[in-house]
Amino acid sequence: MIQDKLHFLSEVSDILTKDIDTTVLADELKSLLSGFKGFKGLNLYVFDNITNTMRDCINSWSIIEDGSEVYKSFESIKGQDFVINSKGYKLPAVVSDITLKITTLCMPIVKDAKDFGIMELSFEENTPVNMEFLFLMKIFASQVSLKLQNIVLNEQSKINVEFHDSMKNIAKIIETQYELNYIVPIIGEMLDRFITDHLIYVFLKQEDGFRLVWPKACNDERIFDILNKLTPETEYILSSNDKIGAFPLLSEEGEITGCIVARSTLDALSKRDISYLEQLTRQSGITISRANSYSKILQYATIDALTNLNNRRQFEHRLGQEIATTKRQNNPLCAMMIDIDFFKKVNDTYGHASGDAVLRGVAAIIKSALRESDIPSRYGGEEFAVLLPYTHIDEAKIVGERLRKAVEASPIPINDEDSKVKSIKVTISMGLAEFNNNETGEELFERADKALYEAKESGRNRVCIN
Ligand code: GH3
Ligand code: MG
Ligand code: MG
Repeated sequence: MIQDKLHFLSEVSDILTKDIDTTVLADELKSLLSGFKGFKGLNLYVFDNITNTMRDCINSWSIIEDGSEVYKSFESIKGQDFVINSKGYKLPAVVSDITLKITTLCMPIVKDAKDFGIMELSFEENTPVNMEFLFLMKIFASQVSLKLQNIVLNEQSKINVEFHDSMKNIAKIIETQYELNYIVPIIGEMLDRFITDHLIYVFLKQEDGFRLVWPKACNDERIFDILNKLTPETEYILSSNDKIGAFPLLSEEGEITGCIVARSTLDALSKRDISYLEQLTRQSGITISRANSYSKILQYATIDALTNLNNRRQFEHRLGQEIATTKRQNNPLCAMMIDIDFFKKVNDTYGHASGDAVLRGVAAIIKSALRESDIPSRYGGEEFAVLLPYTHIDEAKIVGERLRKAVEASPIPINDEDSKVKSIKVTISMGLAEFNNNETGEELFERADKALYEAKESGRNRVCIN
């Protein structure tokens, strides 16, 4: 019979060398074990010490409810070789000819000499087994243990790597960006990608309450009820059915700046979900709060940190000055509004860092195609506003066309997500308007913006005049 046993073990080894997930693994082991008389079923459980729960490895790692038999077996197996019909059992030193009647047979799954799970075999009631069989099962369990360790390690490191990457990305964004309206949706998008089982909402706190910034809509009233209960001392709040979790975003000074809400459509949030959400919220809170203080400092700056053009504030200031001069001296003045075409696609295809590189590139082209007296600014996002003093509309049109062609003809180098250097081409659309004496600066740019809209509508990569 030794032949059979060697054969069994070599079949087990074959299965264990395959690159398969736990469900397939269990299926293959089951079909092998069905060669033993009376065998009915196999379960694999691993103890997750982040959440202190047993997980069912075969059924999508779901959590085993407190009070289940598995926890008792896991306790009873410590220091034993088996738990047979709910009682701990140690193998004798030598194979004897005792026969045992078994219905369930639990064996420890070990890691670094510590129990970290349980393999549970079930049999038809009181199936007789001999000592040899138990010795064989002991070897079998230790082989399977090794495999499970590897699978679990792989799963965990996969999650950890992704998690780490998300965190790094979030931190990186604020190196060049400080507008919360821009940063927060990116954070929302990343969380959403990472936490796949739940819907994620990001709220920012404002004087009159919480404002949803990601995604576009939230029509679950319960979420707003929960938000109103948050205090700076709150770690997190769960809804009564544990399907909604609200995690406050705190500034470095400990004030609530917003809230991340996860809503599950199926299961309740698990302890593991909660632990990840807490970490993500902590990191996001710091990122948002740094961006906030950065933007306060930059209120006094005149230059946009990403593009080196005038920032929006400085633009408003210069616009006021130029309008006053123009009116006084009766000079011509033109307004130019520029928007990069299909810019969202650049971000989506090559990542936000590449998007930023393109913004910098386009800004540099704009600057080099203009005269010294022209005043280019980053109006917001991927939009640029240029003031052209002493310029009539026909001339503005020539400048605009030259600029449009220059952008079209200049590939911009980027590092894509695999860090390979590439260059990509983008185009811009442009709207122009000439100042007339009875309008405000704001009205002038509204007209330029209308022309820009026309340029977009009529096919992009073109210049339109209001
Ligand atoms: P079109 O203008 O041709 O209609 O298409 P679009 O894709 O450019 O349109 P939209 O205005 O909807 O998209 C602008 C995108 O620009 C959305 C936003 O994520 C991105 N964006 C805004 N500011 C920044 C920034 O500072 N850096 C990066 N990388 N992206 C930005
Ligand atoms: Mg735009
Ligand atoms: Mg655009």
